[in-house]
Amino acid sequence: MTNSVPRLLIKNGTLIDGSGRDPVTNTLIVVEGNRISHVGGAAGSVRPETPDDTVIEAAGKFILPGLVDAHCHISLHQGALPGAKYTSSAEFCTLWASHAIGRILRAGVTSIAVPGGKWFTDVTVREAVDGGLLEGPRMVVAGRALSTYGGIFDPDPYPAYEGTPADAAGILCNTRDEFIRETRKQCKRGVDLIKIADSTWGDIQTVADDEIAAVVEEAHRHNVKVAIHSRGSTSTRASAKADVDLIYHGDWADEDDLDIIAKAGMPIAPVLTSPWIGVEHGAAGRGFGDRVRDRLRAQLDTSFQMIRNARDRGIPILSGSDTGNASAFSHGKWHGKEAELFVKEIGMTPMEAIVANTSSNAAIVNLAGEVGVIAPGRLADIVIWDNDPLADITVLQRPTEISLIIKDGRIVDRTDGGFRQLSEEPPRARMFLAG
Ligand SMILES: [Zn+2]
Repeated sequence: MTNSVPRLLIKNGTLIDGSGRDPVTNTLIVVEGNRISHVGGAAGSVRPETPDDTVIEAAGKFILPGLVDAHCHISLHQGALPGAKYTSSAEFCTLWASHAIGRILRAGVTSIAVPGGKWFTDVTVREAVDGGLLEGPRMVVAGRALSTYGGIFDPDPYPAYEGTPADAAGILCNTRDEFIRETRKQCKRGVDLIKIADSTWGDIQTVADDEIAAVVEEAHRHNVKVAIHSRGSTSTRASAKADVDLIYHGDWADEDDLDIIAKAGMPIAPVLTSPWIGVEHGAAGRGFGDRVRDRLRAQLDTSFQMIRNARDRGIPILSGSDTGNASAFSHGKWHGKEAELFVKEIGMTPMEAIVANTSSNAAIVNLAGEVGVIAPGRLADIVIWDNDPLADITVLQRPTEISLIIKDGRIVDRTDGGFRQLSEEPPRARMFLAG
């Protein structure tokens, strides 16, 4: 043994590398330590196999980068747990989030952006993953979402006269100074991302233009990104002008708004999966009436057209599922759904949808050039699938069709670590409407 760095050799599989390049059959991929050192044929530059190498035979299988989900929550909604008195406590949220990240990783998702959660749970869980205490995806996380009276995070259970309780997922900011103060507080505590939240449906703009701009200026001075829940035309336009890093939703952005976004250069993550779940699965019994469902259906149609218009302008379209937003959005279940909607409803090719779920999402998790593409020098986040997602994009929704997950050069233990499968859907679970 001349080299002590552990080596993984993945042989004979079909590589779909995440860059959009055509698939390559019969590849050899070599991982040394936590990085990819070789991709291609069995060239002479590769050191001969030794008994110390881990050799993975991937003939007939499909090798992709680990998926990147640009919109996951891990502590925003806590499921039911018999015997737990207060599932919104910081203690319970931390346990819940620690459980959730394992399920996300075992679905082939090796990086996530977490745009909003409770307490500073998500910061702590990210630190625990980074420090090796927990196994989970790479994470960039926000704190509580910054919202005004009447914004999506100031919903009916928290009427304005009460303010937001300490365990709410949003924090009320009603003046420019309050937005700046909360941004500073969250930056100090170690967030990667500030989440601003405008109105639920986008029919009114609840956060003023100068408040959005003030948050962006403050956060960027701390090297922290800003994402906004913005469905309306004027809030989306103001976000583009303020140079936010990512616009979630953007449903009502018209052609002029999209021109401004295209010029400003930020991506849009439409997050079609959550309203789709609401329409398809948000039936009675989940506090979700016909009127809301009809409105979500109309909202989806608006979003589909907006995204087609955005795509025509070359605006990057990111893929995010809103997993964990509500009890129906189970961790590990829906991360690949957005890709299917991109293909079936927007008209992307399966390859474009794969790129949207891999390399296009790398920048929002602060890992541009590091993850999302399988190439020499990149971090070794790799998923080997049994079936071809280019032939059937819904493969990405089926973790049962994963043969191996590698994160940071290590093979992920795909047993559930002894965690029980929890009841996800208490009888009167609220649907948060895609915050
Ligand atoms: Zn969300």
